[in-house]
Amino acid sequence: MQERKIILTGDRPTGRLHLGHYVGSLKNRVKMQNEGNYEKMYVMIADSQALTDNFDNPEKIRENLIEVALDYLSIGIDPEKVTIFVQSQVEELTELTFYFLNLVTLSRLERNPTVKTEIKQKNFETSLPAGFLIYPISQAADILLFDANLIPVGVDQEPMLEQAREIARSFNNIYGEIFTEPYAILPENEQARRMPGIDGKAKMSKSLGNAIYLADDKATVKKKVMSMYTDPDHINIDDPGKIDGNIVFTYLDVFSKQEHFEKYLPDYKNLDQLKDHYRRGGLGDVKVKKFLIKVLEEELEPIREKRAYYEQNLDQVLAVLEEGTADAREIGRAKLQEVKRAMGIDYFADSRFLDVIKEKYN
Ligand code: ATP
Ligand code: MG
Repeated sequence: MQERKIILTGDRPTGRLHLGHYVGSLKNRVKMQNEGNYEKMYVMIADSQALTDNFDNPEKIRENLIEVALDYLSIGIDPEKVTIFVQSQVEELTELTFYFLNLVTLSRLERNPTVKTEIKQKNFETSLPAGFLIYPISQAADILLFDANLIPVGVDQEPMLEQAREIARSFNNIYGEIFTEPYAILPENEQARRMPGIDGKAKMSKSLGNAIYLADDKATVKKKVMSMYTDPDHINIDDPGKIDGNIVFTYLDVFSKQEHFEKYLPDYKNLDQLKDHYRRGGLGDVKVKKFLIKVLEEELEPIREKRAYYEQNLDQVLAVLEEGTADAREIGRAKLQEVKRAMGIDYFADSRFLDVIKEKYN
């Protein structure tokens, strides 16, 4: 039997989507969508998850729901091919999370390296909301409720998928084979798996203020690239420069193509030649940054144009979410019934339920 291919991913509506999302996950989603080699594909806006660390700022989540949907449509996620849905409106996810909570220990949750980093970043060390700590369990429910097994994400999501596989295995052991184990689809380009922010310190993230957004205008992109972290010891143009940890080159590694050199920088055959010159000395940061701006604009300009269209057609955007959510609910409801049957908590739907009890009393 050929394995079913069900693809699912999501994003937290905590801000607009950025280049990290784009190369880490969105590009793979569009590629898989266009290849069409799957049974079903979902993209979820994870508003409930976003509330676990933004519970005191619901306005932010509400506002960004549409922003994220606009980003999806503008990068080419096609609602004809993909079910785009809103997490909080699929109640079955919350219910499944509740049953999954029994299958995971507190110490297991505390070992999750991505969550550990986030707890530090969010200053949750002394007062950690329980909902935040358990978000990997709810994320397992997001994936498993839809039988998704292919998850195109950045490398920060590996621990979440490991957790989801563990939950699937535990559930299947106790209650019967219900769930499929999911696996991450990482970008081919290693650098794209955890894109650094423009400050060069951490991964690019909405919460860290170090992102270039897909919706940024041309002037903003230029300003951000010009402020990018390079090699602090490369002070004069003639000084030799370092490539390692030099974010401008990391971005070129991910985004530049042969044709960009022919078009914008014909003195160099390819990125290796450009790097060699930088290492030797004699190549200034500004020249490299200007090249990067042109390279980025080739990707960003068409996205911006599409976004402008949808910004003028917001009713259409909301309708996409509503229809996608209705579709996801229907599938989720059926799966949850199966889960409850396996767990023996489907009393009213099980015609044999009373038979067993009756026998006891006869
Ligand atoms: P937040 O700071 O609110 O957590 P985020 O920027 O980390 O936001 P998420 O919504 O958590 O974004 O992540 C959505 C998807 O994008 C995930 O698949 C994640 O792996 C991927 N992703 C996010 N940031 C990066 C990055 N810098 N490099 C590669 N992939 C990324
Ligand atoms: Mg995140």
